[in-house]
Amino acid sequence: MLDKLKTLLKSSVNFPSPPAVAQQIIALAGDPEIDLLRVAAAISKDPGLTAKVLRVANSPLYSKRRQSQNLRQALVVLGLNAATTLALGFSLVGTYRNIKGPGIDYTRFWRKTILSASAARAFAEQQNIAATEDIFLAALLQDIAILAIDRAMPDFYAALPKPYGHAELASYERTRLGEDHAQIGGWLLGQWHLPESLCRSVEWSHGAPASSRGTPAGIAAGCVALGAECVEMLLATQAPADVGELATHAEEWLGIGADQLAETMARIVEEIPETEKLFDTGLLPAELALAMLDQARELLLIRNLQAIEQVTTLRETTADLEARAVALEDQHRRDPLTGLYNRGHLDQVLATEFEGARRHGWPLSVVFVDLDRFKSINDTYGHPAGDMVLVGTAQRIISVARATDCVARYGGEEFVVVLPGLDTPAAETVCRRLIARLRNTRYEVQDATVTVTASLGLATYDAETPFESVNELIEAADRAVYAAKRGGRDRLVRHDARRRPAVAGSVALQAAR
Ligand code: GH3
Ligand code: MG
Ligand code: MG
Repeated sequence: MLDKLKTLLKSSVNFPSPPAVAQQIIALAGDPEIDLLRVAAAISKDPGLTAKVLRVANSPLYSKRRQSQNLRQALVVLGLNAATTLALGFSLVGTYRNIKGPGIDYTRFWRKTILSASAARAFAEQQNIAATEDIFLAALLQDIAILAIDRAMPDFYAALPKPYGHAELASYERTRLGEDHAQIGGWLLGQWHLPESLCRSVEWSHGAPASSRGTPAGIAAGCVALGAECVEMLLATQAPADVGELATHAEEWLGIGADQLAETMARIVEEIPETEKLFDTGLLPAELALAMLDQARELLLIRNLQAIEQVTTLRETTADLEARAVALEDQHRRDPLTGLYNRGHLDQVLATEFEGARRHGWPLSVVFVDLDRFKSINDTYGHPAGDMVLVGTAQRIISVARATDCVARYGGEEFVVVLPGLDTPAAETVCRRLIARLRNTRYEVQDATVTVTASLGLATYDAETPFESVNELIEAADRAVYAAKRGGRDRLVRHDARRRPAVAGSVALQAAR
């Protein structure tokens, strides 16, 4: 059936060939040596067409510069290629406009065709395409095969269920012909020797193949196809139900977001009165177009908000996951009973801080804290009471340390405080405060009030005591704790390299009472 149709169209049995003027313009359009005088001569053979080209040149859509009095001026204003293209479009539309068949709603057909051309041009401008007229012409001719089919096979559309939308029409054609009017239109324009790019835009006017996206041909076809979809929506009798598909196509075909789409649609509606003047025809009552536009805008806005919401949700999910990962990692570093850092993390912190101190020459103080006679609390009040005291002790140490200090549980009732940047006197102040804080804490255990003291050992890496390794530093603090125990407990002993031989390398400092 498709072959039969194509044969009919080739032999022009029923479908009128382009008129003489259009044929001349087609020939000129294909001529690289095209010149103004010859184009003007061709156009001026048709007074109606001449008037139209003049009107276009003086239309605010094309020129805000100056009024053209004659065809030559108009051609200069429009540019030769644009003028030729437009003249061709007008000439063909004029020729085929009086075709009337029973199956097609021709009022709607011309409305859609003309509005689509204007819409495609708006998208071409939005895409910064220089030759907007080429796209205008492609859009104007995108449905020409409907006319051809209706003319060549007058019964063909009779069985098309009415009312029909553009999608139903195309699918009806595909079922019966194997191709739709876009493909047949591309072929037909090829038969007329129109430029390849024009044929391609018409052929792809229902959507270009994905492989062509982003190429000039794909973008040109995208402008035509998107313009047509916008117009279908504006011409829809009911509310635009699925603006979603339009927005998706805008994004896919031309990389246009919902905001830009709404903006371009507003321009299309704005230009309707001017387009109506150019084609001497009523297209769409202004109020109706504006009402449709409002609805479309609203739907696009909702879609935009939904997109924003999705991004936000996605971001929140990511943030949640990250927070959980951080929490999990933190959990691995902590002692479950007291919530302090565990020994593993302490080792890391010590290594990092020792390296930093050595590189930058900062002091680094390390304090060992060992509770005094803690075993007796367990023995007297039980293990849970001992646990409570351990938790309480951890809280007191945290309250004395700064956020940048590291407090860790080293073993059973032993704690380590790392004080980066603190020299011996500053660390001693912290230690004294801690001794007092622990000593003055009362724990209510069963019917008794329990207090517990601690022995502290302090070692500082600085210019005077430049330990060779982090282990030496820790061992020095550990030895200092032993000295504190031997000295009577509830006190601080600071490691002192100078007095090492005398008092086992330590200086006992009686905690102030
Ligand atoms: P000193 O003053 O010499 O340090 O005496 P001490 O009793 O504090 O020292 P020792 O090392 O002899 O005893 C430590 C006790 O701490 C022994 C152990 O039962 C107890 N302990 C260790 N871990 C925990 C714990 O997680 N919970 C409780 N309740 N007790 C613990
Ligand atoms: Mg102890
Ligand atoms: Mg101990």
